[in-house]
Amino acid sequence: MNKIEILKRLYKDYTHKFIYKISLSIFFSLIIAASTSAIAWLLDPAIKKIFIEKDTSLILIIPAAIVAAFTFKGISLYMAKTIMIKVAQEVRKILQLDIMTYAINADTEEINKKHSGKFISHITFDVDRIKILVSTVILNIFKDSLTLIGLLGVMFYQNWRLALFAIIMIPLASIAARSLGKRMGKVSTQTQERAGTLTSYLLEVFKNHKIIKIFQKENYEISRAENFINLLKEKITKSDIILVRASPIMETLTGIMIAGLIFYSGNLIMSDDLDINNFFSFLAAMMLAYQPVRSLATLNIAINDGIAAAKRILPVIDKKNSIVEKLNSNELKLNKGNIIFKDVKFNYIKNENRVLDSINLNINGGEMTALVGHSGAGKSTILNLIPRFYDADSGYITIDDQSIYDLKISSLRSNISLVNQETTLFDDTVKNNIAYAIENPNDEEITEVTKLSYCDEFIKKLPQGIDTVIGENGVRLSGGEKQRLSIARAMLKKSKIILLDEATSSLDAETETKIQEAINYLTKNRTTLVIAHRLSTIINSNKIYVVDNGKIIDEGNHETLLKDSIIYKNFYEKQIKKN
Ligand code: ADP
Repeated sequence: MNKIEILKRLYKDYTHKFIYKISLSIFFSLIIAASTSAIAWLLDPAIKKIFIEKDTSLILIIPAAIVAAFTFKGISLYMAKTIMIKVAQEVRKILQLDIMTYAINADTEEINKKHSGKFISHITFDVDRIKILVSTVILNIFKDSLTLIGLLGVMFYQNWRLALFAIIMIPLASIAARSLGKRMGKVSTQTQERAGTLTSYLLEVFKNHKIIKIFQKENYEISRAENFINLLKEKITKSDIILVRASPIMETLTGIMIAGLIFYSGNLIMSDDLDINNFFSFLAAMMLAYQPVRSLATLNIAINDGIAAAKRILPVIDKKNSIVEKLNSNELKLNKGNIIFKDVKFNYIKNENRVLDSINLNINGGEMTALVGHSGAGKSTILNLIPRFYDADSGYITIDDQSIYDLKISSLRSNISLVNQETTLFDDTVKNNIAYAIENPNDEEITEVTKLSYCDEFIKKLPQGIDTVIGENGVRLSGGEKQRLSIARAMLKKSKIILLDEATSSLDAETETKIQEAINYLTKNRTTLVIAHRLSTIINSNKIYVVDNGKIIDEGNHETLLKDSIIYKNFYEKQIKKN
């Protein structure tokens, strides 16, 4: 996208709907321009009538007019800016919501590819830059150029020759500011990238704080942090200095301008081509013009910043999901809940070694089917394909003879529960974490599942019971408690199909038994596909598939596999040792 396209797009999607408010603030800009020009113009009659002609009739009127002009200017500035502050915040809201919507809806693949720090930088820094572009910049363009036009009018009215002289100076000032803007644009993009990296790094420190402590890498991480911060510091210092660099240039230019003005106007006065009252009014207009000229000349910094930010954000917002449903997709009609995989091939990254190679599964409805195999064999990948977190490259998957790719995604997912190994919880109350499964659950339902999942035991001990907030990802709960909570959540969903990624971490015997019972209850008469690590789960499964290197190498039940599959036998013996 080029600059013009980006600006058009920003206007269409983010500014257009506020056009009435913006027009109102432009109307106030007109009043600002008129009153500023009036202030400069009033000096002419003030000096002429009061100081030179000593006209007593105007001694009150002109000062009153000046107060009125300033008051109008002040009120209009307040109004114009307040309106634009509101518009700016609306634009920020829409942009942030767009990014959040993208992040929430994005394909698993996209989320895995992108670092969360990048999103944070989009939603904070980038959004801010665009907000400034579509609000402050718009206001300033109108306010400052209208004011400048008004003041130039006064200058020409007072003395056209002097006005021409002053106009020559304006491009000089803006050339200096323009080159400044170009350099700023580059540096500020780099600054934003660096800031994003620092945020990502901070998130990593939070996530890995135990690892940092156990390997005693605090000093190493602090020096890494210092590196990140130093790089950021350098960029920010550079961009701040570039901004200040304008000052000496602008001040010198102003000096030259005033000197030239005194020289030239002195000559005009001496040859009686200029009166002193016109001169002062002209001077006032010129000085008042300084601010809008400077502001207009440096606007391109904010414009470039905003465009650069939009270049980063818009592609993210526009990103289309590749996991989509077909036009005439159907509701899933569940019968027994049989799931079939037929010659399913899959790769996370195209043209690399196959992660899944011709997988054939026949998962009977209402039964428990286990996937066993070494880590990295492809078990989680198989699980991920059923709720369409990823789509198979070829082959098909059916549930009760309906291809999952012909179903409405909402219908497919509403019939599947997922209990993850890394029990994922929200920083909310226990109750809300369980209730997340369905809309408007009633208290009886929640009480029932907390009992069946053995959650009630630990909930009782929590300070605010079921209304206790459990902290980010449930830090205030033990591993076993978290597992039970996620089982309760799945129980509440009452879906026919259960995908279970058993935790590998071993728990004490009592907790283990409780979790086992909770899982037994959860999976009773449901179609369950479990990545099994616990011996009891494996033995109790109706069917077992042995996965190795992306292929199903054996299938059967515990007894038949012990006899027929060497790999399974080895695997089983290792599990016995572990237990
Ligand atoms: P398992 O569950 O049996 O331990 P996985 O299904 O998680 O195995 O992984 C199978 C293979 O796919 C592994 O080689 C792993 O490195 C690769 N893999 C898993 N997730 C991704 C991903 N998001 N991107 C790329 N490769 C992946």
